[in-house]
Amino acid sequence: MQRDTLVFDLIKQELERQRRGIELIASENFTSLQVMQAMGGVMTNKYAEGYPGRRYYGGCEIVDQTEQLAIDRLKQIFNIEYANVQPHSGAQANAALMLSILQPGDAILGLDLSMGGHLTHGSPVNFSGKLYRPHFYTVTKEKGLIDYEMLESKAREIKPKLIICGASAYSRDIDYKRIRKVADEVGAFVMADIAHPAGLIAKGLLSSPFEHCQFVTSTTHKTLRGPRGGVIMMGKDFENPFGLKDVKGNIRMMSNLIDMAVFPGTQGGPLEHVIAAKAIAFGEILTDEYTVYAKQVQSNAQAMAKAFVNRGYKIISDGTDNHLMLIDLRNKNISGKKAEQVLGHADITANKNMVPYDDKSAFVTSGIRFGVPAITTRGMKEDHMEFVVNAVDTVLMNADDANTLSKVKSQVNEFMSQFILYPELG
Ligand SMILES: *Cc1c(COP(=O)(O)O)cnc(C)c1O
Repeated sequence: MQRDTLVFDLIKQELERQRRGIELIASENFTSLQVMQAMGGVMTNKYAEGYPGRRYYGGCEIVDQTEQLAIDRLKQIFNIEYANVQPHSGAQANAALMLSILQPGDAILGLDLSMGGHLTHGSPVNFSGKLYRPHFYTVTKEKGLIDYEMLESKAREIKPKLIICGASAYSRDIDYKRIRKVADEVGAFVMADIAHPAGLIAKGLLSSPFEHCQFVTSTTHKTLRGPRGGVIMMGKDFENPFGLKDVKGNIRMMSNLIDMAVFPGTQGGPLEHVIAAKAIAFGEILTDEYTVYAKQVQSNAQAMAKAFVNRGYKIISDGTDNHLMLIDLRNKNISGKKAEQVLGHADITANKNMVPYDDKSAFVTSGIRFGVPAITTRGMKEDHMEFVVNAVDTVLMNADDANTLSKVKSQVNEFMSQFILYPELG
């Protein structure tokens, strides 16, 4: 077959784009070369519906081993009893988990999307808001912190089956213990979606949800720095609360219900090439090198936040505990949309984001979200945050000045050339 130079040329262009720019999208990262190699490998050819040791296809003895490695390593990272590594993405992990414990029409309670929550936590445009009855809690207007009192009063009022915590644009640690307390009072389960901060939780840099939340879901490609995908975990397995039994009349464990909700509930064949890449990434997370990385992420985020505050930027909640920050740009007279656009002109990538109580639409927004996982992987330390923040500030303060934008772009490209990305790729 003829090599598809059209597509491979575009892939090359994407590599160059990643190399020359400053990547500040909080949900992005750069995987290791070996993680990418696994994803581009022969395991993509294999059908393996089912789970290690109990598949619906022959020839699974090797992929059984990679999948089992991924499971065992993930359990070791978080010191937990159960992990399912098959979800194709974070959204798929949430869909399967909800399917395993909810009936259509059940009430759920999650953080409002415009307050930092995620689409899969009950948004009306998502399955979670269509299949289930969504209710929301917010962050406080004054401090930008989760309004736990509101969460508690809503929980008592609507008696949800599931309370969801975890967020996409929230820079503070979460009080899982407090959420569990009200959940027990009203008979709800708690699910923590740690898609964003999972890598920091893995290294004990943020509170662990496992002791307090029955269910924990995550992506594998954000701070965990693995391939694009999802996982479902439980600190402790337990007997399913619905009295469901297997053919022998034994009561099924919750792990069994979750496995069934992933396959056959919401997915077909697992992506065994991606699962092999997950196994590699999880192995990397178990090393001291990754511990150093996770700590650097947290230090870089704090250094970045400080540099923004020094320039008069308003960070929601006035700082960060994790890897990201959400900035309200209203005192800088630029919208999130415009900011994202002009930063792009200077090869700085970030995403516009609604701020709590935003008066602009989701397409325009008053805010922008910055995260440091990707630039930390590139090799940046606290000292480099000054350059990055200065470049962002110069762009935003000269948004209509094409000359300045192109000058900053050259400086950014020059600056990034010291942080080599994928040298093996030529
Ligand atoms: C990113 C994210 C997800 C979804 O992950 P995808 O892999 O994009 O489906 C789910 N929940 C939260 C909180 C996220 O930030």
